[in-house]
Amino acid sequence: MNKLQTGILVLLMPAMGFAQQSLKVNIDASQAPQLQGWCEQAKSEMEAWFPRLINLMAPEGESMPSEINFQIKDSNDGVAYTAGTQMVAMSGWVTSHPEDIGLTIHELVHVVQHYPTYNPAWVVEGLADYFRWGIYEGKPLSWFPQSSKKNGYEDSYQVTAGFFLWLERGPAPGIVRQLDSAMRKKDYDERIFRDCSGKSLDNLWKDYVKARKG
Ligand SMILES: [Zn+2]
Repeated sequence: MNKLQTGILVLLMPAMGFAQQSLKVNIDASQAPQLQGWCEQAKSEMEAWFPRLINLMAPEGESMPSEINFQIKDSNDGVAYTAGTQMVAMSGWVTSHPEDIGLTIHELVHVVQHYPTYNPAWVVEGLADYFRWGIYEGKPLSWFPQSSKKNGYEDSYQVTAGFFLWLERGPAPGIVRQLDSAMRKKDYDERIFRDCSGKSLDNLWKDYVKARKG
């Protein structure tokens, strides 16, 4: 990059509201040293995506951690979890799914979320999978699993993520940021869906099921 380009970037960055937050991921692979290389890859993805996630979400002045600890646990039980700034992935899962680096992006969303409540869980997990599969992996809508249940949006994870992706691209652009913002204030309410689209959550879901069938 030449001097002129650098100068333009410096000028533009504050005006465009780019977050400056950077993240350092501390790896602990002592329980499964053979996965050190996998951890290094995950670390570099997470450190690259942390500021992007902050920009896509609505932490509005909330302070974000500058470091997190990422540990591989020697276990065949489960996939991964995050509590505050402690992220854990299980060696059994990682060994049998080495391509699943993106699981750490899902967990990283939980770090940025840091919501005061896990309720409703389908919104929390739906958003985490929206950012992981819809944004980070860039999967097309047709990739996302469907549910024909009446309240299928409550199926959470990938089902809800597909619904959010469809809402963002069609009837309710901006809804993801609205949901994230409300969750931070313990202010989630179904009316957010109507505010963003003019339609109720149940009617939006019906439209989504129809659109996916069509
Ligand atoms: Zn999760």
